[in-house]
Amino acid sequence: MGMPDFSYLRPGSVADACALASRLGDDATFIAGGTELIPDFHRGRETARQLIALDGIDELRGITIAAGELRIGALTTVAAVAASALVRDRLVALADAARAIGSAQIRSLATIGGNFCRAVACADTPPAAIAGEARVHLIGAHGTREVAAEEFFLGPRRTVLAQGEMLLAIALPAQPAGSGSSYQRFSRRKGAALAVAAVAVRVTMAAGRITGARIALGAVAPVPMLVSRAAAMLEGERPSRALFADVAAVCADDALPITDLRGSAEFRRELVNVLTRRALDEASARAEEARS
Ligand SMILES: Cc1cc2nc3c(=O)[nH]c(=O)nc-3n(C[C@H](O)[C@H](O)[C@H](O)COP(=O)(O)OP(=O)(O)OC[C@H]3O[C@@H](n4cnc5c(N)ncnc54)[C@H](O)[C@@H]3O)c2cc1C
Repeated sequence: MGMPDFSYLRPGSVADACALASRLGDDATFIAGGTELIPDFHRGRETARQLIALDGIDELRGITIAAGELRIGALTTVAAVAASALVRDRLVALADAARAIGSAQIRSLATIGGNFCRAVACADTPPAAIAGEARVHLIGAHGTREVAAEEFFLGPRRTVLAQGEMLLAIALPAQPAGSGSSYQRFSRRKGAALAVAAVAVRVTMAAGRITGARIALGAVAPVPMLVSRAAAMLEGERPSRALFADVAAVCADDALPITDLRGSAEFRRELVNVLTRRALDEASARAEEARS
């Protein structure tokens, strides 16, 4: 299917973009890097005919620290997230998740805002952001608000964004002292292949024991999934192969995978089991290093 006729509007500020979006209603959609939206036009999945381009809005771009919070503007490319020393220092799992996306060409166009807003179950950055307790900052006709990253997703291609509302930034709080993180994913080939399953973990340690953990799964449920029951099993324990195997088994049980072109539900559960153990090994080793 070819591209339909559409209007291309290029506001210069967040306020103008929001005003346009609320005036144009359902017939308008934001476009950032276009790496999801343009293929969706070709597939006939996108029906909006007024594109509000965000690329002229500088205030949406960049990675900064203010009041202890690391703020990643919605229009920041995933290549910039992957390369950022600030992101790596705070939550290396998020930089690794960004690096896992597509190819170099895709990463140089794809934005972190677009990765969240299309709400595809296999998107790479949301599970890592959720493991790091990220908050999503939004702006719309009724002002600004923020939600926990795990609450942003309602279902495949559905988010809490109201009509005309825009994602402004992903904000990462300071991580607890003695934390380490890891992002593990499996795809059917190296390079430009979507995740069949993914696991993001943050582990916090003190005096050889795990004092807190967050585990988020990707591509194995309709939305990125925080598995609190499994994470709670780690608290107060010393890292061990047996413990990590028990936790991984609970993650595999709690996952809600489907069978599709990329893998069966059963295969995905097995992947969650293996990837969780790898992520826990890596995150706990990094947490030990962070304390030394
Ligand atoms: C070949 C190929 C390989 C890919 N591989 C991967 C992969 O491995 N992993 C992965 O996670 N993704 C992958 N993707 C998907 C895509 O590149 C990412 O999801 C990308 O981050 C989307 O960002 P974008 O800026 O291109 O979004 P766009 O296509 O511009 O927009 C996507 C959606 O988000 C909305 N939107 C964008 N920004 C905002 C905002 N600030 N506020 C409100 N709504 C907004 C748009 O209206 C649209 O609905 C791949 C895509 C292609 C074409």
